Amino acid sequence: MDSYPNGKSSILLIYTGGTIGMKQDIDDQTLKPFDFDQIQAEVPEIAKFAFKIDSYTFDPLIDSSDVEPSLWQALARLIQERYEQYDGFIILHGTDTMSYSASALSFMLDGLTKPVIFTGSQLPIGVPRTDGKENLISSVEIASAKDSEGHALVPEVCICFDSLLIRGNRATKTNAEVFRAFESPNCPLLAEAGINIKYNTKAIRKPLDWYQNLSINTALDTRVSILKLHPGITPEVVRYFLCSPETRAVIIETYGAGNAPSKKWFIDLVKEASSMGKILVNVTQCQSGTVNMDLYATGKSLQNAGVINGYDSTTESALGKLFYLMGKSSDNEWVKQMMTRNLKGEITKN
Ligand code: ASP
Repeated sequence: MDSYPNGKSSILLIYTGGTIGMKQDIDDQTLKPFDFDQIQAEVPEIAKFAFKIDSYTFDPLIDSSDVEPSLWQALARLIQERYEQYDGFIILHGTDTMSYSASALSFMLDGLTKPVIFTGSQLPIGVPRTDGKENLISSVEIASAKDSEGHALVPEVCICFDSLLIRGNRATKTNAEVFRAFESPNCPLLAEAGINIKYNTKAIRKPLDWYQNLSINTALDTRVSILKLHPGITPEVVRYFLCSPETRAVIIETYGAGNAPSKKWFIDLVKEASSMGKILVNVTQCQSGTVNMDLYATGKSLQNAGVINGYDSTTESALGKLFYLMGKSSDNEWVKQMMTRNLKGEITKN
């Protein structure tokens, strides 16, 4: 890992909601969103950076449990509109669904040459022990960091949280209590903030052309459901998920290396869904590791029934990727093919 000094930059801070922007109201002690136009008053450390930070606040501000794909579309449009004006973008977002939003944006933004950093906090920025200030300050530093040629050090959609910089489509929220809320189970960190910020330059994806235009994909098809397998699951439940006419794709969260019950009724239902043309994607319930359907007979029978390999994808990433690919094409065979390709560093595969 190498460490770099910052050059001068301008940053757009986009506030969507979540705990980070809350401040305790002196009168009634409740948590209320604070005005990000006054960011420098709230986080005076930011003034020490010699660059321009503008803010944009969504209305209404939301708890991220209320995030819908319409927010991702609005974020993609906003970034495209302001792309030429800024060197980097920071999105303040609740932690609960941050990994879903970061995953989706990683697919929706094509030709990215600038950082798009999601951050938030476990404690509101207005409380003394907040983690929000450190998360925000590290995000500003990373979003503005450039190499000796003036290119962004991290031209990717990422999550910056508790000193870790994680590729957005590899992040998952693993802890609801401690400051280290996110992990990157299957992919190296892109940077780590200690005394210096150490960038893992080998792991960071670079654009083929630094001068390409950003293009955005805002057509999303959300007809996806997620079926988590568990002992005792019934044919009725599995049929509902796999064969429902409302869904075009189903993410099956399987056991271990991609295994599922070998019972005849289960495999028959998978075959039935597959013959209906459904896109069935296998991701593991395990936090780390990859699906390998060649390993056990129980995985092999899924493969033979038409289930495609989600490799070491997080569920969040598989969902965003499906929304994006299905929005691009009505051809399910093409979507299946593209699901097995590494598009934005979301799976460990060449
Ligand atoms: N419920 C909040 C949210 O996700 C939690 C947080 O911001 O950390 O919006």
